[in-house]
Amino acid sequence: MSTVNAVQSPAVGNRLILPESRIPTNWYNIVADLPVPVPPVLHPATHQPVGPADLAPLFPMALIMQEVSPERYVPIPEELRDMYRLWRPTPLVRAVRLENALDTPAHIYYKNESVSPSGSHKLNTALAQAYYNKLEGVKKISTETGAGQWGSALSIAGAFFDIDIDVFMVKVSYQQKPYRRSVIQAYGAAVTPSPSERTNAGRAILAKDPDSRGSLGIAISEAVEVAVSDPDARYSLGSVLNHVLLHQTVIGQEAVDGMAEIGEYPDVVIGCVGGGSNFAGLAFPFLHRTLTEGQQTRFLAIEPSSCPTLTRGPYAYDFGDAVGMTPLIKMYTLGHDFMPPGIHAGGLRYHGMAPLISAFVKTGHIEPRAYEQRPCFEAATLFARTEGIIPAPETSYAIRAAVDEALAAKETGEKRVILFNFSGHGHFDMAAYDAYLAGGLENHKMSEDDLQKSLATLPQV
Ligand SMILES: *Cc1c(COP(=O)(O)O)cnc(C)c1O
Repeated sequence: MSTVNAVQSPAVGNRLILPESRIPTNWYNIVADLPVPVPPVLHPATHQPVGPADLAPLFPMALIMQEVSPERYVPIPEELRDMYRLWRPTPLVRAVRLENALDTPAHIYYKNESVSPSGSHKLNTALAQAYYNKLEGVKKISTETGAGQWGSALSIAGAFFDIDIDVFMVKVSYQQKPYRRSVIQAYGAAVTPSPSERTNAGRAILAKDPDSRGSLGIAISEAVEVAVSDPDARYSLGSVLNHVLLHQTVIGQEAVDGMAEIGEYPDVVIGCVGGGSNFAGLAFPFLHRTLTEGQQTRFLAIEPSSCPTLTRGPYAYDFGDAVGMTPLIKMYTLGHDFMPPGIHAGGLRYHGMAPLISAFVKTGHIEPRAYEQRPCFEAATLFARTEGIIPAPETSYAIRAAVDEALAAKETGEKRVILFNFSGHGHFDMAAYDAYLAGGLENHKMSEDDLQKSLATLPQV
């Protein structure tokens, strides 16, 4: 497949799509290659390490076993690989027109996860999670959604596996993105704006702040409460947890395979991070090469300045939700009470970060970087006008970093190979583009005061 030799032809983007037979047969579990073990997840009341039985009210046992698995490779069931064939392998694209616009000697590649039916990488894990829930007889799955991408993906999975999906959608997104709500409903799922009157957690938040815009942490509390109070229901999380990152490694395995086909290897691998799943999905199979073969690659995790978990938060035990129902996780965190401003990248407004990403930031293998939202939209519109796809606001953070890396390579005249994850398209985010194009998009930076106030609520462990 020699699609990449048209470097001289500025009008042609270069796209590599591997055949269906090259869809990975295993997920890659980076736990097997950890340089230092990740601290255990602790019970919220006893502060003792949780065992599989503690998690049984929340997740099917197959996913719990994946969560704690030490095996390097976890087989992907054939039925799931068949479903992945709907859109995988995803294209690996050399962004030639973007390179030309930047007049850079760098080669910029992106893995296009926006081609999934839900428009983002999230369907990779949504189908996997629904599959294992179905095997164990689960009738209903409750979940939260920020920007609506996760809710959409899980709703498709619910439709495919005949499972009821109950989505708590962060209220500010529910209002900013009415069409995401319609998408979820069109797939047959139920959507409730969060905080809601349906749960103790939601009612407690509303009693304190009737105008609460909601947060992912609050929506998680509501969804967890619904799951644990119904024996036929389980809960599902679209990011953060080990098994979610595991499922996303189909992205990076295909990218390793595709880059080898092309005959290049990335000097820098980039992704935006909310909970860390799309970045991990792309980066971990390359990080495997760094850990086991000494490959020299930089890994850049990009977050918003308004929700600066990795760049300004401490590495500490904290709850995954807002009201403190979930186990305690050792991670970079802004404090579970943190109320992020209503920036348009709703999928990046989470107070914590995947424990596996956190561990590799701690060891220095992953380098975090924060951007404000306006320069990201600037990069996103440049991308749209050169490559033709309108990026999700979340994805624009990765694009900004890729553009900056390409501009830095131009300074030094170096042929840098840049690979970033195009995590999703922005077709349901046009209100954000409206605001940007009208000049009304504000930059937000978290104040030191707000940070300290929020960190004061960290549990003492
Ligand atoms: C949810 C989402 C993200 C952020 O979540 P991660 O788990 O960090 O990947 C990024 N981009 C898009 C398009 C998303 O839908």
